[in-house]
Amino acid sequence: KKRDPIVVAENISRSFGGINAVDVEYLEIPRHKITALIGPNGAGKTTLFNLLTGFDNPNSGKWQFEGHNIAGVSSYKLARLGMVRTFQLTKVMGKLTVMENMRLGAADQPGERLSKALFKGIWGGREKEITAQADVLLEKFKLDAKKNDYAASLSGGQRKLLEMARSLMVRPKLVMLDEPMAGVNPALTQSLLDHIKNLKSEGMTVLFVEHDMNMVRHIADWVVVMAEGKIVAEGPPADVMKNPAVIDAYLGAH
Ligand code: ATP
Repeated sequence: KKRDPIVVAENISRSFGGINAVDVEYLEIPRHKITALIGPNGAGKTTLFNLLTGFDNPNSGKWQFEGHNIAGVSSYKLARLGMVRTFQLTKVMGKLTVMENMRLGAADQPGERLSKALFKGIWGGREKEITAQADVLLEKFKLDAKKNDYAASLSGGQRKLLEMARSLMVRPKLVMLDEPMAGVNPALTQSLLDHIKNLKSEGMTVLFVEHDMNMVRHIADWVVVMAEGKIVAEGPPADVMKNPAVIDAYLGAH
């Protein structure tokens, strides 16, 4: 059967000083699957996320999302196309309420215009729809009781949930999660895992960065392993985890 990846990237490189943080010849992200991006500290996972999502510029490379060439395309335009991400350290806005954060998720505007979008309403008459959609997501993520609280009052895990919920406001096709489980209270871990699985059952594609192999084994359909900026292995979790190059990459770094 012909492969139909949602993202295809070629020859992406990014160096900082003398370090090749990312040096990826070829990468495909399979559609409608959960793909885990793993690798030791400093492997280049976050840098690759930043490049793919328009938060950093590569030294070279080209990549496509749904057949669109998106190298150099800004993050808010990517959101409009259906590609969103979350951050290792969440970018939830603490001085805004949970609901205001959700509404920001629907603002496919450049950063400077976000405050206008929030407070002056340049929503083009979509306010009601946006609020209704936010309500549905907040209920699903069990944050509805908190919707009028400042996001700063949330726990680390709740912020992760809010950021994930907010990213869904644009009804994305691809959701990229940078260490969604890091810093999350164990009580919320299972719920986060379930949310990730639900994204897939609702038809979305997920790419996530994770260190914990148990989590990866449980939810990933496909695993991409990075070490020193390069992709050193990929495949189904069980295969990848017995691959000598992978074992070597991990043992070599610790
Ligand atoms: P971790 O698992 O620790 O989050 P990672 O796989 O996400 O690591 P990156 O954060 O992408 O790795 O880092 C890859 C390499 O690039 C590292 O050597 C890092 O020090 C370097 N690096 C990343 N960002 C910068 C930057 N802004 N300036 C200089 N060096 C950077």
